[in-house]
Amino acid sequence: MEKYDFLILGAGGTGLAAAMYGARLGMKTLVLGATHGSELPIGGVITTTSYVENYPGFKKILGFDLAKNLEEHAREYDLVTIKNEKATEVKKLDNLFIIKTEKGEYEAKSILFATGTKWRKLEVPGSLEFENKGVNYCALCDAPLFKDKITAIVGGSDSAGKDALILAEHAKKVYIIYRGEQIHPEPITLKDIEKNDKIEIINNTNVVEVKGEKLLNSVIFDKEYNGNKELELSGLFIAIGHLVLSDLAEPLDVKMNEKKEIIIDHKTSETNVPGIYAAGDVTDKQFKQLITGVADGCTAAYSAFEYLQQNK
Ligand SMILES: Cc1cc2nc3c(=O)[nH]c(=O)nc-3n(C[C@H](O)[C@H](O)[C@H](O)COP(=O)(O)OP(=O)(O)OC[C@H]3O[C@@H](n4cnc5c(N)ncnc54)[C@H](O)[C@@H]3O)c2cc1C
Repeated sequence: MEKYDFLILGAGGTGLAAAMYGARLGMKTLVLGATHGSELPIGGVITTTSYVENYPGFKKILGFDLAKNLEEHAREYDLVTIKNEKATEVKKLDNLFIIKTEKGEYEAKSILFATGTKWRKLEVPGSLEFENKGVNYCALCDAPLFKDKITAIVGGSDSAGKDALILAEHAKKVYIIYRGEQIHPEPITLKDIEKNDKIEIINNTNVVEVKGEKLLNSVIFDKEYNGNKELELSGLFIAIGHLVLSDLAEPLDVKMNEKKEIIIDHKTSETNVPGIYAAGDVTDKQFKQLITGVADGCTAAYSAFEYLQQNK
């Protein structure tokens, strides 16, 4: 069985940054990133947005390019191995961890959960049925499919706002459908939305059903909009947040909050279990951004290094 000092579950920005730091601290490091099927590519969720303009040191860079830079930086170190494998089970045996994937088993002295999140689904009739038949989650990946079509985004966050802007580059019309009083993207995103003639915001409204035949062709609202409860469209993008991927930590008695976010010491990225760290979007961090995930990933690597020094 391959043995590592530091094993990172998740090859998003957080995991890649932690790997780079881990190797610099002399730890033999493995990053497991599930990159097939519906999982995110190496680099994680930041690859699904277009330009990132708030990562210090880069005034404007494509999310995909930023992720590539983080990956290349990690790969600079011979002590880092990155494998496209999904972890399926983690067990603790005394002071060691055994990590199973669909391809094999690894042993590690310390582990980091950097597994991020998955898209939250819209739980209304038809939503799952029309997934990939008009209902999508990643605007950057799928917006070109809706060239000159009528589309909508469900959600009111900054991500939803950015998705609307991406979609407006291709679609003829983009509705933002939001259940609350007013959408709440970053002010700079809001300005761009307000300037864009293709985007129309429908506040205080819920989608209650998604309809179609072979493909999606309309959504039903819980109240009338312009005298009609039904809106005809070809594409619906769901941007109503994310659910953390912390299931593998549960059998290890790692403490979580009610959202299943892993509770960490925000100074050290330690969990309640010695040798287990967590960082990035999977944690109970309030401000979830690439820069904060990267920072906590590096902190976790340093804490793991100290732990290994103390437990030689
Ligand atoms: C549309 C959008 C726009 C955004 N814009 C910005 C922005 O402009 N600036 C900014 O700073 N942040 C932005 N963010 C937030 C930022 O992308 C995230 O906070 C950050 O990328 C989280 O990184 P992470 O590594 O913690 O998680 P993720 O990027 O989600 O990576 C987790 C990785 O773990 C893998 N994984 C999960 N389970 C397993 C398993 N069992 N085995 C192996 N691998 C597994 C996943 O496949 C994934 O690759 C945006 C987010 C979105 C959705």
